[in-house]
Amino acid sequence: MAYSLGQSQPIIVLREGTERTRNKEAQANNIAAARAIADAVRTTLGPKGMDKMLVDSIGDVVITNDGVTILKEIDVQHPAAKMVVEVAKTQDSECGDGTTTSVVIAGELLKQSERLIDHNVHPTIIANGYKLAAAEAIKVLEKISVSAKGNDVLKKVAMTAMTGKSVAGQLEYLADLAVKAVKTVAEDSDGKIKVNVDNIKIEKKTGLTVADTELINGLVVDKEKVHPRMPKSVKNAKVVILSSALEIKKTEVEAKIQIRDPAAMQRFLDEEEAQLKGMVDKIKAVGANVVFCQKGMDDLVQHYLAKANIYACRRLKESDMEKLAKATGGNVVGNLDSLSKSDLGCADMVEERKIGEEMMTFVTGCKNPKAISIIVRGGTEHVIDEVDRALHDALRVVGVALEDGKVVAGGGAPEIELALRLADYASTVGGREQLAIEAFAEAMEIVPWALAENAGLDPIDLVIKLKTAHEGKKNAAYMGIDLETGETANMMEANDVLEPFRVGKQAINSATDAAVMILRIDDVIASKKMPPGAGAPPGGMPGGMPPGMGGGMPGMM
Ligand code: ADP
Ligand code: MG
Repeated sequence: MAYSLGQSQPIIVLREGTERTRNKEAQANNIAAARAIADAVRTTLGPKGMDKMLVDSIGDVVITNDGVTILKEIDVQHPAAKMVVEVAKTQDSECGDGTTTSVVIAGELLKQSERLIDHNVHPTIIANGYKLAAAEAIKVLEKISVSAKGNDVLKKVAMTAMTGKSVAGQLEYLADLAVKAVKTVAEDSDGKIKVNVDNIKIEKKTGLTVADTELINGLVVDKEKVHPRMPKSVKNAKVVILSSALEIKKTEVEAKIQIRDPAAMQRFLDEEEAQLKGMVDKIKAVGANVVFCQKGMDDLVQHYLAKANIYACRRLKESDMEKLAKATGGNVVGNLDSLSKSDLGCADMVEERKIGEEMMTFVTGCKNPKAISIIVRGGTEHVIDEVDRALHDALRVVGVALEDGKVVAGGGAPEIELALRLADYASTVGGREQLAIEAFAEAMEIVPWALAENAGLDPIDLVIKLKTAHEGKKNAAYMGIDLETGETANMMEANDVLEPFRVGKQAINSATDAAVMILRIDDVIASKKMPPGAGAPPGGMPGGMPPGMGGGMPGMM
């Protein structure tokens, strides 16, 4: 690309073949791309949302209506579209829910901004207005949130997260399970509750039915005992959690020892045996009766452990080691020499049980376990995976609700309340930003709109009904859509549609961030990707558009 400065030679600034779009054209392209992403997932929003069938390049098929899964699977090329995909990923990592909502809101904020840009409102003004509106929206959302302390509230949060996933028959049962699991692993640090759902270990085993899915007050390790003569179960277990091997290290380099004297041979073997026996003695010395070893275990060690009536498993996953420590209150020990009584974990019972076709080790009756297991059962692998996904979502939202102690009603209720309150707020701000705040308020209506549309209801009609329901009366802020009747209803009490405050807050924040970022771009300079083996692409930009920069998106539906 060349610029002419007066009479002098043109100065080459950008490499030949670099593509450039500017100002309105750049904005229009970016907005179109981002909106295309939002439109693609909008039809999946809510419990009545449709599914997408995604086929990857090697023909594998995934059917899902989970926003973040869809966006991770499709191959998005446009840079602005990629920013919207990031919104979903952030939302997922922060809250585990609300991914579709955040993307749909981002798309709608951009759609509204297009209208303002057409009326010559500068994108910077729009961006400022959006930021003001988002801050106010969070305040309003917090005001209409309620306490999430009770188990019944948490259970409703879990059920809301799982509606729409195919676990309908066992919704309540699984919700109860999720609440119990989260409450067990919740930790109190300086008066703040912390929940790490990674400490809830989900084991999947085909067989029985979903109703046989079970919460184990302790941990399940997918390993059997190493020696048949070890006890089948150990009461009052004192557990060693060892990350080093119980065998003699092989040398790194290949070494040969030549022994000519049979007595020397015997001494050599005796020495090896003594070392291995010494390992078992150290375990016996601290009074342990169970050993979980992350690495290998020599046959002789297994033999001596069995002789000492000690239960042992080997080659555990590293993640299981930490969870075992959390569940039993013991420490992961890296070196047998430093093993002491205080490193031992405790459990009422360690035993081998047959689950389906396999033997597994159950560590149960831990005093104050901070890691536990759920065994998911079900007729087919497909069912189990579905339950696993649903449970995972439920655990995340219950964890988030418990940490923050705040929930809001769902079903479009908060968005309508925000639309109305933000419209009031806009008039107090004045100036051109007022227009942007009004646009933000209007964008909020997309959530109830899409919920209604996806349920086959008339969205215009419902948004109007909702607005009327939100004016004045008591509990007005909780009025959302009952998707069964198609009427407005109290989501907090009558319909039990509850979601963590953080999900709504994060959705607004990340959607606003993405919209603002996209709005502030007035120049897209893209270096040309060269296909392997191809010569330099024909240069020159005017009128031309880089691949994937138009409204259409290669790789998408
Ligand atoms: P996301 O990926 O954003 O979580 P979902 O498909 O889970 O998308 O839909 C969430 C939306 O559906 C929220 O607005 C929530 O309030 C709403 N919702 C969930 N359950 C119900 C219900 N039973 N009735 C009405 N709305 C519901
Ligand atoms: Mg959801």
